Amino acid sequence: MKTIGILGGMSWESTVGYYQRINRGIQAKLGGLHSAKVLINSVDFAEYETLQHQGDWAEIARLLTTAAQQLERAGADMILIATNTMHLVAEQIQSQLQIPLLHIADATGDAIVAKKLDRIALLGTAFTMEKPFYKAKLTDQFGLQVDIPPSDQRKKIHDIIYNELCRGEINEKSRLYYLDVIADLEQQGVQGVILGCTEIGLLVSQQDCNIEVFDTTQIHAEAAVNWALANELLP
Ligand code: GLU
Repeated sequence: MKTIGILGGMSWESTVGYYQRINRGIQAKLGGLHSAKVLINSVDFAEYETLQHQGDWAEIARLLTTAAQQLERAGADMILIATNTMHLVAEQIQSQLQIPLLHIADATGDAIVAKKLDRIALLGTAFTMEKPFYKAKLTDQFGLQVDIPPSDQRKKIHDIIYNELCRGEINEKSRLYYLDVIADLEQQGVQGVILGCTEIGLLVSQQDCNIEVFDTTQIHAEAAVNWALANELLP
């Protein structure tokens, strides 16, 4: 089994979910007392959130590259960035590593294509919904049509992520708000919705929705498990 390196803490609320899902995934495949080989480098999210909102992505890239290199030196065989938003600097990080980085939008695109869907909604931080780094991958590489909510809804979705979900606050009112946004997008004709922020799964799940839900935390964790066990003989 390969060792998975997680760049975590963005926020730690979702890193907990990664750790649990990866271990459950390994246990489901290998049985017995098997668990995942994982290294987590968990950062102080407040420092990064400040840099994000200042638009200092160069400094974020520098800091996260250093953190990823620490994981590489510690023995990680691959890197997961446990947040969608920080994939804005994924290429810079990958360029400074010898080991592969498993991109969250690649794993998500594969999951959508496997379900044979071609029109999808994207929910996440304003950075993920509005900047091209994520959507362009889905459109150019996977041929998907990607819809995002209008700007007033995007702002509220973004604020709920930073003011509630990343602080571990789960509010019913916010859950209902997200479900309203998803219902609007369904009306527009999307066939599924990407929970494109690793905390949204704390609020919304497949049971809440009529359309297909793609939880990026779950998808990314599953892809990491498959990668860690590739070429292994399973029981
Ligand atoms: N975890 C979130 C994401 O998946 C938001 C926090 C961040 O900005 O990294 O985008």
